[in-house]
Amino acid sequence: MPLDDRRLALLKAMGVPFWQPPPRTRVTDTDTDTGPASAPQESPARAAAALPDALPAAFPAAFPAAFPAVPPAAAPEAPPPAASRPTPSASRGVLPPADAPDGSPRAAPPDVAGLDWPALREAVAGCRACGLCEKRRQTVFGVGHARAHWMVVGEAPGEQEDLRGEPFVGPAGRLLDQMLAALGLTRAETAAEGAAEGALALTPDRQVYIANTLKCRPPGNRNPEPAELARCEPFLVRQIELVQPRVILAMGRFAVQALLRTDEPIGRLRGRVHRYQGVPLIVTYHPAYLLRNLLDKAKAWDDLCLAMDTMEALQRDAAAPTA
Ligand code: URA
Repeated sequence: MPLDDRRLALLKAMGVPFWQPPPRTRVTDTDTDTGPASAPQESPARAAAALPDALPAAFPAAFPAAFPAVPPAAAPEAPPPAASRPTPSASRGVLPPADAPDGSPRAAPPDVAGLDWPALREAVAGCRACGLCEKRRQTVFGVGHARAHWMVVGEAPGEQEDLRGEPFVGPAGRLLDQMLAALGLTRAETAAEGAAEGALALTPDRQVYIANTLKCRPPGNRNPEPAELARCEPFLVRQIELVQPRVILAMGRFAVQALLRTDEPIGRLRGRVHRYQGVPLIVTYHPAYLLRNLLDKAKAWDDLCLAMDTMEALQRDAAAPTA
């Protein structure tokens, strides 16, 4: 199947062709909250036009009513002053471990500063810093190229992930893979894996590293608790330090809270470029939420296009001759 058709098929699989145009004014979304009318909305039409290699040019043409042309948006925001950036708790010192229900102390979270990939993976596998270690089948570390230019941060492993030891392998994961593929991105680490997926080229600018805020499954897929998030956070912080992504996609409330240190709802944060330790960060809905709220896939697609625009702007800046 030719590339454009393939990507169109992926977008169809995401449900894109059936979406209504995303409202350009005040909108109600996810977690029952409302985005500001002034929040800038990126146009997929513009993104597609700017990304001949990454998105099918046929995409906006196929759905012209859904994606009217808009003037180019401003360049991504400049990094905020260092003082205003969120500080990961790893560098603030790690919380003491939560005691086990019988009162016996659990092991302290390992100090992961400076660990390389194998040591970090081992530290995660052996972690007993919170009660989630009691019920997990295995820890779920992360997947993807170790120096991928893209990083996706999700919430926590579910049942499938707990079984297989890989993030996002259940239904939400399948949607995530479709969303990434529609942008020409993949979690595949090796050329062989990429070829099996039909990826044309496997270079870090097309590769994604996927990690969660929690490395163990919360029983019954309940929400992560603040103490669990705090104890697990140093692992994610170190993963981000090792990957050094160019763009981060934070998916869902818990990823956003962990990385941006904010309780603002997704609907108020999406549509603009944030920063995590200076790295551009795009907020979007969690794929599991999108499976239940099909109409919000249109907004998620806008978010992905903003992320691609942001990456393209970085690539252009990097390629520009210095004076
Ligand atoms: N949801 C997540 O946030 N992460 C996973 O790995 C699976 C589902």
